[in-house]
Amino acid sequence: MEKIAVVGGGLAGLSVAALLADQGKEIHLYDAGLLGGRATSQVLKGFTFNYGAHAVYGRDQSALRSLIKQLKLNVTWLDFSSSKAKYEFAGHLTAAPANALGLLKTELVEGTDKVRFTWEVVKTLLSLERGESEVSIGDWLVQEKVEDDVSRLMLDLASSNFFTSEPENIPSSVYFAYYRKLFRTRKPVSYIAGGWQTLIDELERVLTDNGGEIHRKTKITAVEQSGGGYRLRDRQKKEWPAKRVILAIPPREMRKVALPLPIQHFIEPYAQFEPAEALVYDVGISPYIDTPFSYVFDRDHQVFVTDLSHYDASISPKEGQVLQVVAYLDHKQISQATYIEEKVRHAHDLLDHHYPGWRDRLVTERTMKRAIVQEIKWKMGQRPLPCFLEADTSIAFVGDWCEGEGQLSELSFSSAYTVSREWQ
Ligand SMILES: Cc1cc2nc3c(=O)[nH]c(=O)nc-3n(C[C@H](O)[C@H](O)[C@H](O)COP(=O)(O)OP(=O)(O)OC[C@H]3O[C@@H](n4cnc5c(N)ncnc54)[C@H](O)[C@@H]3O)c2cc1C
Repeated sequence: MEKIAVVGGGLAGLSVAALLADQGKEIHLYDAGLLGGRATSQVLKGFTFNYGAHAVYGRDQSALRSLIKQLKLNVTWLDFSSSKAKYEFAGHLTAAPANALGLLKTELVEGTDKVRFTWEVVKTLLSLERGESEVSIGDWLVQEKVEDDVSRLMLDLASSNFFTSEPENIPSSVYFAYYRKLFRTRKPVSYIAGGWQTLIDELERVLTDNGGEIHRKTKITAVEQSGGGYRLRDRQKKEWPAKRVILAIPPREMRKVALPLPIQHFIEPYAQFEPAEALVYDVGISPYIDTPFSYVFDRDHQVFVTDLSHYDASISPKEGQVLQVVAYLDHKQISQATYIEEKVRHAHDLLDHHYPGWRDRLVTERTMKRAIVQEIKWKMGQRPLPCFLEADTSIAFVGDWCEGEGQLSELSFSSAYTVSREWQ
């Protein structure tokens, strides 16, 4: 049987490895760090903090749903209560327009603007509006003379879903394709019971049950062509042969690996693109602070807080609570210490405002000043990496930097699907 090497064991690498192993392929997966990559979690004083991934958007329309079904993964969904999602607006909280009811209740747009916003939603749903890859959503809104309040709301939504501080720069075609899918959903936001570690463990189970081998703490430093196939090498100079290779590591990491020249040239432009970054501040508090909301988005500072314990009691000790604050970052300002300090202050302010008393109840906290949410940000002038080289069918790419459907981890799952279908 021909051997397939998967380099990288994040959600993308694990998914493609499990899908191919389930089809009967001989799989060897190599990972440099912790299996799960940016979807791992960390337990501090009994509180479970996610490194990154926490929510699934539009799960009923997602590639993850197909993956769970196809591989019979044991995952329990915890669905978000839209009625508990709020936007902070003019100093008070109003319903977030996450679904039709939120739209009727929200004060973010009113009167004719509400009609206009609803019309934009309907047009997107009916595919009457598709946008253009050469026109940003910001320019599209100006071209179409969309009212200020409606424009602002359409961009705020994109900020939350694309984790970006510059939603106006998203290509309008990407914007409409994303919302066409999301507006159809009956499950706008969901969480996975026990956190994403559950999913990682399940993918690992399918892979090993089907004879796949996992090489942990194995950083691949070279991939060379050798007799109609490839030879992989790690830091200890240990070598492995493979007939085909899947690179499930970000383009910036691929650049550090000695790869055959055509691959190096192919990935180079993608390795220079900007990622989408966020500051993440997690707190574990006790006892629990009960509130009428579980999510608040502060649109002025582009920061939001989620009460993750509201959905999943298993992530904190009894009576404890995990609150996660995420602030979107502007790549150009990240190197300035004052900019990051300001973001930390906004995170604290948001908690002070909506969870008064949290400081006295603080048990543990964690700040990630620069977490990479998506390796290649959706913005004008940037594009995702194709899953295949045009002339070479023995090498493939998967990850949230690849072409696919949806956003964030959905790109990891959908690119894994593309490759597993092509190689079945
Ligand atoms: C703060 C934050 C919040 C997020 N929120 C969400 C969310 O709510 N919903 C959502 O869907 N997504 C979210 N994401 C995004 C999600 O976490 C990622 O899209 C997803 O985890 C990416 O998986 P991946 O496999 O594509 O990449 P990665 O997780 O980056 O995997 C790459 C893997 O390659 C390994 N590796 C690197 N170099 C080598 C080498 N040379 N040899 C061997 N192995 C190597 C690494 O150890 C890693 O395991 C969030 C991310 C962050 C940071």
